[in-house]
Amino acid sequence: MTKFTDLKLDPAVLRAIADAGYETPTPIQAGAIPPALEGKDVLGIAQTGTGKTASFTLPMVTMLSKGRARARMPRSLVLCPTRELAAQVAENFDTYAKHTKLTKALLIGGVSFGEQDKLIDRGVDVLIATPGRLLDHFERGKLLLTGVQIMVVDEADRMLDMGFIPDIERIFQLTPFTRQTLFFSATMAPEIERITNTFLHAPARIEVARQATTSETITQKLIQITPPRRDQSAKAKRELLRAIIKAEGEACTNAIIFCNRKTDVDIVAKSLKTHGFNAAPIHGDLDQSLRTKTLDAFRDGSLRLLIASDVAARGLDIPAVSHVFNYDLPSHAEDYVHRIGRTGRAGRLGTAYSIGTPADAKYLAAIEALVKQEIPRADPPEGFTLSDAAHREPRKYDDDKGPRSRSPRSRSGRGRDEKRPPREDRAPVIVAVEEDDSHIVEVPEAKRSEGRRPEPRHSEARRAESPRPEPIRPESGRDERRSEPYRDSRRSRDGGPAVVGMGDHVPDFLLRSFRTTKPVIEDKDTEAEESTEAEVQNPVEETSEN
Ligand code: AMP
Repeated sequence: MTKFTDLKLDPAVLRAIADAGYETPTPIQAGAIPPALEGKDVLGIAQTGTGKTASFTLPMVTMLSKGRARARMPRSLVLCPTRELAAQVAENFDTYAKHTKLTKALLIGGVSFGEQDKLIDRGVDVLIATPGRLLDHFERGKLLLTGVQIMVVDEADRMLDMGFIPDIERIFQLTPFTRQTLFFSATMAPEIERITNTFLHAPARIEVARQATTSETITQKLIQITPPRRDQSAKAKRELLRAIIKAEGEACTNAIIFCNRKTDVDIVAKSLKTHGFNAAPIHGDLDQSLRTKTLDAFRDGSLRLLIASDVAARGLDIPAVSHVFNYDLPSHAEDYVHRIGRTGRAGRLGTAYSIGTPADAKYLAAIEALVKQEIPRADPPEGFTLSDAAHREPRKYDDDKGPRSRSPRSRSGRGRDEKRPPREDRAPVIVAVEEDDSHIVEVPEAKRSEGRRPEPRHSEARRAESPRPEPIRPESGRDERRSEPYRDSRRSRDGGPAVVGMGDHVPDFLLRSFRTTKPVIEDKDTEAEESTEAEVQNPVEETSEN
């Protein structure tokens, strides 16, 4: 068996490895480190949990220990799809380079440009960045990429999902042709294959077994329910989720609960908190400092339940997670593998529960085809029955919270592939009420669709994870949209939508509305609301978690 001492790593790196307590290299490390140290390009097909971060960090530290950083010209570059992953790589770098004098900078959104500029000006050996933020710095003229000798692309398949591939190609082109590339992806989609064929030179290809096929430490269970009403599916799932968490009791020390859409991440987190659970959400629309605080709390054990989107939780290395819950079955089968891989790490035991409804049949089939096994079916916890509220018709736009607490982005409870209700069931006017109940805003149909969008997989995700700075700041733009949801500067005289292209000379008949608008009904489901409020005031069993 290969030992770290066989790998020709720098003695300072070997000491750091010993300090970290690692005894033997993982397969990806044993496979990737030797060719990397020979200066070859590496194509690593591996996912998080396999030790892949060290497989590129250890040779980088070894190779960079000779030579010096120059102002504004980083010597190496690590690109990560999300801020959290970039921060995690930076932590790994600190661990493995602690006995060297190498310097690093972390370029991620949500951190002031000034601080980051200062570091780059001084010169850094390793620059760890999300692609958008890196290009922002480059475009501001603060950074030269012509000194990059080693470039790492981490989680390339997630980059693809998030629409970062054009940025990655551009960054490749800004770095010297002679650079060494270490490229990692969990899967090899055709687009990833194309990039590697274009930018890697005769790479050493190292592929490690998929986590799903090797992780016997995870007990998987699928609980299927058929909600009495399809439009109450989300409510039924939340009830079942609470029942499972309660039934698991103390065995569930902490858990990550995955939802497919950011809106549901917020709703589920809010609902769990309402029911007395110690829970918090994490997704790409939340402020970076809040995301960091939430993750820190989850890591240190002060937060028990982390409700997450795939993008936010992908690759997070939190060693002791007892449970993973798929509140939604993922629509991309490989996400199932990534999600459940958050538990059962480093030889520990873990439990992964998935909640399925008849609407998820095709997702379930795809997951089972990918992992080549049937997810073991389990019954709902003993005595579980859906509440009366789950049988009732929901309120118009969300089935858990009254309009008072609803943000304009969390209006729909529908899944991405669920059909919209028939037109006659749709109210002609949607009423969105701000947190403080102060505005009532009519939401045009076009805007309504915003609330239905899943976690972004394309260019919008790039904006969410790596905001563009001045002069254009999509992140701040998004926030502005949220606080002033649907104000349009081009309003017509009676406050209706402006007619584009007619300036001020719009004939009156064009501005008249022919729609009949229903009066605003405060809340159809006041009983359910009352019962929720009663539960908030009197969260019987779970108050101790708070
Ligand atoms: P990664 O796949 O890079 O996210 O790493 C997963 C976890 O494995 C991290 O917590 C690392 O600290 C740990 N790890 C990495 N290499 C080794 C090793 N050779 N032996 C034991 N643990 C390791």
